[in-house]
Amino acid sequence: MKAKELRQMFFEFFGSKGHKIIQSAPMVVKNDPTLMFTNAGMNQFKDIFLGNSQPISNRVANSQKCLRVSGKHNDLEEVGHDTYHHTMFEMLGNWSFGDYFKKEAIEWAWEFLNGKLGIPEERLYATIFEGNTEDKVPRDDEAFGYWKNCFSETENRILEGSKKDNFWEMGETGPCGPCSEIHVDIRDESERSKIPGHELVNKGHPQVIEIWNLVFIQYNRKADGSLEMLPAKHVDTGMGFERLCMVVQGKKSNYDTDIFQAVINEISRITGKNYGEKESWDIALRVIADHLRAVSFSIADGQLPSNNKAGYVIRRILRRAVRYGYNNLETEEPFLYRLVPVLASAMGDQYPELLAAKEQISKIIFEEETAFLKTLGKGLKMIGKMISDLKKENKNILPGKIAFELYDTYGFPADLTQLILKENNMKLDTAGFEEEMKDQKKRSREDASLDAGDWQIIRESGDTQFTGYEKTEDEVLITKFRKVKLKGKEFCHLVFDKTPFYAESGGQVGDTGFIVSEKEKTEIIDTVKENNLIIHIANQTPVDPTALFKAVVNSDKRLMTSNNHTATHLIHYALRSVLGNHVEQKGSLVTPDRLRFDFSHFSKPGREELLKIEEIANRLVRENLPQNVTDNIPLKKAHEMGAMALFGEKYGESVRVVKFGTSVELCGGTHISSTGSIGIIKIVSEGAIAAGVRRLEAVTAARADEYINEKLIAIEEIATLLKSPVNIAEGVEKLLAENSMLKKTLEKYQANSAKSVIKELEKKAVIIRDISFVSGVVETDSADTLKAIAFEIRKTSDNIVAVIGSSINGKANIVIAVSDILVRDKGISAVNMIKEIASEINGGGGGQPFLASAGGKNPDGIDAAIKKAEEFIRKV
Ligand code: ATP
Ligand code: MG
Repeated sequence: MKAKELRQMFFEFFGSKGHKIIQSAPMVVKNDPTLMFTNAGMNQFKDIFLGNSQPISNRVANSQKCLRVSGKHNDLEEVGHDTYHHTMFEMLGNWSFGDYFKKEAIEWAWEFLNGKLGIPEERLYATIFEGNTEDKVPRDDEAFGYWKNCFSETENRILEGSKKDNFWEMGETGPCGPCSEIHVDIRDESERSKIPGHELVNKGHPQVIEIWNLVFIQYNRKADGSLEMLPAKHVDTGMGFERLCMVVQGKKSNYDTDIFQAVINEISRITGKNYGEKESWDIALRVIADHLRAVSFSIADGQLPSNNKAGYVIRRILRRAVRYGYNNLETEEPFLYRLVPVLASAMGDQYPELLAAKEQISKIIFEEETAFLKTLGKGLKMIGKMISDLKKENKNILPGKIAFELYDTYGFPADLTQLILKENNMKLDTAGFEEEMKDQKKRSREDASLDAGDWQIIRESGDTQFTGYEKTEDEVLITKFRKVKLKGKEFCHLVFDKTPFYAESGGQVGDTGFIVSEKEKTEIIDTVKENNLIIHIANQTPVDPTALFKAVVNSDKRLMTSNNHTATHLIHYALRSVLGNHVEQKGSLVTPDRLRFDFSHFSKPGREELLKIEEIANRLVRENLPQNVTDNIPLKKAHEMGAMALFGEKYGESVRVVKFGTSVELCGGTHISSTGSIGIIKIVSEGAIAAGVRRLEAVTAARADEYINEKLIAIEEIATLLKSPVNIAEGVEKLLAENSMLKKTLEKYQANSAKSVIKELEKKAVIIRDISFVSGVVETDSADTLKAIAFEIRKTSDNIVAVIGSSINGKANIVIAVSDILVRDKGISAVNMIKEIASEINGGGGGQPFLASAGGKNPDGIDAAIKKAEEFIRKV
């Protein structure tokens, strides 16, 4: 069975059990400070489990693209070395939100694996939670009972597992519960008869592996560590799709399934290294096939490689692939980018975002590869130097600090450093390196760690209603609050029953303002969304949080922000009209002061084009188009209205469409009532930020006036200086031309004066035996001119020793030039001479036998130094 059919079968199976089949959420997570990438199917439902949102259906199923390379789940180092962990993988899952529980979850899992797919019972194992006295959680007898109905015998088929393996928690606090895993034994009969499978479950055996985890969410973990029963119980399951494919297709490795074959074959074709011939090649082929998927999918979801946060994680995955190619497959040229078309045609059916962004992905990967291969080259050179330095000192251990610096600053991986050291019979101080790594991790954890207390519930309430589209003031009640500590500072998180405060999302910054009751006033310094919960951040906790408050948004800032948000839509529209419909939004930032818009486009727009874009956007401003919002319509309807959905964005069942004339966008942000409020849009910068992605920045309204005035004032000042207010460019051009003419004249003059200086010096030449000794003190303002003069004198004949000095800026300078023949036949060396005489000017010098110079603190000693030089020659 092909992978595609298998995925379909899963959907159909759970569809027949009343599940709504939904899309995978983007792999890159936005709006969750605790998570960079989706690492399990349940992530997108976190807000439902936390009770912040209602599900669209209480039974859903899907295939979720996951990435496990950071934080709690990090499988990166396993990938490629084993055959069943990936960085990016698909997780099939079915969910019950307060609907069915353990019975159905277990029975259906069994029916699907054993009944539908025909995986034989004797190859399957189930685990259940053994219980934990400290948490006061009993053994999961309920799950045991249902498994008992599936297996024909229970002995050694249903196994008990500890808290580590069989108790799932969302985080330090929050929903949690026991889980039941299904493991499968795919070993050959001969091996199975030697060691029974149950002895290998959860022991890291590559062919006795977990494929499905059924989590039964029934508790809530509080900040003090205790558990409380949840009112509604949920099911959350996750099954590795690639592993399931391996089992169903009768393979021993995920990489042998049709999911990976096309890409692996293409790598073999390009590199000439076949899969299955050599262990080191196989590892590299697996690493590359895996990492290519992870990187391509994240770029398609809008996360480009970069040097911080999520972008840096992606960059490191990509570099790992390049490095394995470089080390094991001898690829010294970029080649990963050439694999993208094969990947896109293999996975584009299920994931159209990959097809849509194919070219861009390829270009970005190419740039990254090229840059990293250069870094590798540089790093190799640096290590080469370190090694020779160590050898000179008779040492054979490279300090961890240096390896860490190579890794951290130059992206040069430690294992490669180690490999090179080994080839030179040297070692890395690994403990030192680990120490540095740990320090860095600690630093970044401390920077980001948020220490949150339990929510203090004041009154029960449903979702916070956002009233800020219509008003900037409202009467609100605090429903819950908690104290949090960030970087040693205390804040208070407040949640209201309803709120006019816009929470940061969709690129628009959060509102600020204050809340005020009869007794007190509390500043709101920011508003954010966490798992769909609108959180108002205050510097302190209100003394009486039960009071009725008036919530007041800083309306000036809000208006400026809304101007910029609407302007962003108009610019987007104008960009598409001028540059073409391939232009897509790749990111945006809307603040009160300016707007930033990232978009896909492959070449630099010319000046004319930028002017045209600005002109179109400003025309829409002057048309004073009214805001036209349609809320709560299905995505399909929004498409029909002309709105474009973005890949990598998560949309709910129903969406909001914001229209200003012909500009139509899916948008949850705040906007002005008509475009005239923007006044004017001024683009202030435009440039590339990655392959195929450009960034434009603009200002509007009063900020645009300020910007324009600043420029005008500068021009006025120049005009005044030029005394020609009409044509400034011409005036400046004239000045520049004059300047360059003067420069040329000056150079000529200097050359002439140098010539006459040389002539004067030559006149004073003394002949010492057959050597012409030319010396003197000249006036000049640069050591370079002094050198040039000495050099010129040296050219006049082949028996010259020239010693000239000058006092420049109160310091002594001496240059000695010696003809080549004198150096060769008489052994006269300018360096030796300069060392001899430099003491006279309180300084030191050096150079080469034919030209040397010295500088010193004592200009009064120049004459004496020259005298000494003459004596030197006399003695030769
Ligand atoms: P393992 O112990 O094998 O790493 P896990 O306990 O981390 O698995 P879960 O977090 O329970 O796995 O995830 C659910 C399912 O997702 C697993 O049963 C497995 O089939 C699959 N899975 C987990 N991690 C990976 C991975 N890195 N690559 C591919 N599939 C995975
Ligand atoms: Mg794992």
